[in-house]
Amino acid sequence: MSLPQRTTVLIVGAGPCGMAAALSLNHQGIQDIVIVDAILAGENWSRAMVIQAATLEALNNVGCLDDLLSVGKKAKTAGLHDGSSYLLSADFSLLSPYTKFPFALVLPQTDTEAVMLEKLNQLGIKVWRPFKVVSLKASPEAEEQIFEVQFESGDMIQARYVIGADGAHSVVRNEAGIAFKDPNGDDNHDYGSLSQLALGDVTFISPPQLGTPDNGVSISLSNGSFTLLAPFPVSASLDKPPGLYRFVSSVPPEDGTAPHAPSAEYLQSLIDRCGPPALSSDPATNAHPTRIDKVHWSSRYRTRAAVAERYFARSSSGGGVILLVGDAAHIHSPIGGQGMSLGIRDAVSLGPVLKADIESAGGTPSDRLFEDWAARRRKRALSVVALTKETVRMMTAPRRVWPPIATLGFAVLRFFGRFSFVKRMVAYRLSGLAEI
Ligand SMILES: Cc1cc2nc3c(=O)[nH]c(=O)nc-3n(C[C@H](O)[C@H](O)[C@H](O)COP(=O)(O)OP(=O)(O)OC[C@H]3O[C@@H](n4cnc5c(N)ncnc54)[C@H](O)[C@@H]3O)c2cc1C
Repeated sequence: MSLPQRTTVLIVGAGPCGMAAALSLNHQGIQDIVIVDAILAGENWSRAMVIQAATLEALNNVGCLDDLLSVGKKAKTAGLHDGSSYLLSADFSLLSPYTKFPFALVLPQTDTEAVMLEKLNQLGIKVWRPFKVVSLKASPEAEEQIFEVQFESGDMIQARYVIGADGAHSVVRNEAGIAFKDPNGDDNHDYGSLSQLALGDVTFISPPQLGTPDNGVSISLSNGSFTLLAPFPVSASLDKPPGLYRFVSSVPPEDGTAPHAPSAEYLQSLIDRCGPPALSSDPATNAHPTRIDKVHWSSRYRTRAAVAERYFARSSSGGGVILLVGDAAHIHSPIGGQGMSLGIRDAVSLGPVLKADIESAGGTPSDRLFEDWAARRRKRALSVVALTKETVRMMTAPRRVWPPIATLGFAVLRFFGRFSFVKRMVAYRLSGLAEI
């Protein structure tokens, strides 16, 4: 079957945010959509591990939640430790007055994408692969208000609306001439010693015991370093070895650039130097030494923040509309597990706005709805970027200033961390519920 030559809405990119956009449009009754992706099959590595409560609400609104809940693990808490001692936790169960889903859903991105793809298939929405967009321009027939979108394959498609869900290096964003930069103008500096991360999906020779009440996501701070451990959900339908964990660690700047695919030895050396004693292979620090047995997937990640200057553009000739969602619109540190969740909410919230514009066709064209949507989503991205930078500063600053201040700062956190209102406040900020 060949690519259609014309559509009302073209979605570029079938990652989680492009697929969420397709689900939302379908839910609004918009049938004339085409979704394309540059690569032959979805990525098969995990990346984002958590879906926040506000995003569960959004996915529920477009009929895609039940299957995700059936495979994911409901984490009630995310605990923060200083080495071996508990500091505070985000308690998602305290969010029940605000949401039907008072938990964070732990699910590797690969599986989130697989569930969304299956949902699209059930709805009869095909993802066209491999079709890589290389350029787009307004049609010479200006009164038609359409774009001509060119593919690497030589194919061309005409579309009235183009949704750029094509990730951090978005061709759609670049073709629209939309700037993408750190809102504070200080690219990289704000993430300091946490700007480079090494991560892996690993099994240990014996299961680590980190002391979080429901064995949820556990974050550990030590000497200006950060490590995170999250157990994979156990589900027969997920093709995962038992005892699999996502491990993330900051890479000390003096170590230089992390390898492209860090080995078990590399990751273990980060644990032994910066991680919680409960994961250490060193009998001097851990009474029950353990170590990484096998790396099933690993990578490195260079953190930077950038937000698109605009999420909405209309071609200068008055032609079609360009909209940006997901990583095409914003990127930042994965600390706090916000990126994918925020992007899915961008995409789901776009459905009703597009529907209203499509239904107004023939009337006076107005950009107000798109501008309002774009301003709302951009404001949200700016606040998430600020949250990630603030979190990183909180994690690293005291050590940078003077080590005893860290001890004092952590004592304060430990004291306030006992109170429910603090646990609820931290969970609320992470959940994204403030925006709905
Ligand atoms: C190593 C790593 C770890 C991460 N960890 C976390 C985490 O813990 N928590 C979190 O929330 N987020 C995390 N993220 C970020 C998260 O993966 C992204 O926020 C999420 O993938 C964004 O989804 P998206 O659909 O916007 O973009 P993507 O997932 O990047 O999907 C974009 C899609 O567009 C396609 N595409 C690109 N260019 C074109 C083109 N020209 N034509 C057609 N198709 C195109 C690509 O093939 C791809 O399928 C991590 C990312 C990485 C890389």
